[in-house]
Amino acid sequence: MPGFADRIVAWQRTTGRHDLPWQGTRDAYRVWLSEIMLQQTQVATVVPYYRRFVERFPDVAALASADVHEVMRLWAGLGYYARARNLHACARRVAAEHERRFPRTARELAQLPGIGRSTAAAIAAFCFDERAAILDGNVKRVLARQFGVAGFPGAAAVERELWARAESLLPAAAQMPSYTQGLMDLGATICTKTQPRCDHCPVQPTCVALRSGRVDELPAPRPGRSTRTRSAQLLLLVDGDRVLLEQRPGVGIWGGLLAPLQFDRVEEMTTALHALAPGALAQALAPRRHAFTHFTLQFTPHLARCDRPLAAMEPRLRWVDRADIEHAALPAPIRILLRELMAGG
Ligand code: SF4
Repeated sequence: MPGFADRIVAWQRTTGRHDLPWQGTRDAYRVWLSEIMLQQTQVATVVPYYRRFVERFPDVAALASADVHEVMRLWAGLGYYARARNLHACARRVAAEHERRFPRTARELAQLPGIGRSTAAAIAAFCFDERAAILDGNVKRVLARQFGVAGFPGAAAVERELWARAESLLPAAAQMPSYTQGLMDLGATICTKTQPRCDHCPVQPTCVALRSGRVDELPAPRPGRSTRTRSAQLLLLVDGDRVLLEQRPGVGIWGGLLAPLQFDRVEEMTTALHALAPGALAQALAPRRHAFTHFTLQFTPHLARCDRPLAAMEPRLRWVDRADIEHAALPAPIRILLRELMAGG
């Protein structure tokens, strides 16, 4: 009977995905860019971003010499913004320390900003045929089911076991690109989190979870997970066709992006509004929620209108015109909020 890797390779060649815009290249820059964008993000979302990035920054030197704000602006809407900051930092390192060429081994790639062990392995496998194992969230799910590995995959011992499995399964070097792509395709299209399509799965004959009726139980969820909620007050100061936004600091949520002034408490927001626009009144709008990985942000927008120059204007503050809302470096929920707000005139 063919082994696990043989089945994955054969299936990928006949049935897997072959027409993604970052396939058919061994250019480490393009493969790296796609791998970073695909972290925690679906293919359909990534494709237009990838195309825009490659058009604007055709190689690592172009990205390295770009202004970080332009990178953030192009990234806006993809989420997990630390990836964009690391992307830029990584391009600079490759340009400055590696003569504008990505290193050729997973071990060296993993030393670069934003490239973890699994991403380094994917780049090395796709571009240089290295026998390096990937283990992202999708692959953890496939292996946990295929081999009946119990326990939460984020727990250190379980993760160690999954890495050991992943490394023991690798095919010959020449098959690494198809194998790596096949594992990714399987996790994304067949062995999905809910409603996996086991009847179409190339490794169904050896699947422990399927045989023992535990597909729904594996992998185990994070124990005792509770979703924390944080609340925030957002000040939307509007002057005619423009809204006041702040350039957020590089770290923290929405780091490096433009967003309305944010406060923990209504009183703090009112004090800031009076300092900026004495006499202006704020009206609370319906609260909204946005889920981050580790918590949910419940934010209440407060709309205030001002019709005269601000009393104080700090360098981090910026007026953004209604016409620029679609292109500014805004987090997705803020863009939606401003779209609705400014559409009303
Ligand atoms: S048989 Fe089903 S559960 Fe097992 S690896 Fe394939 S899709 Fe996943």
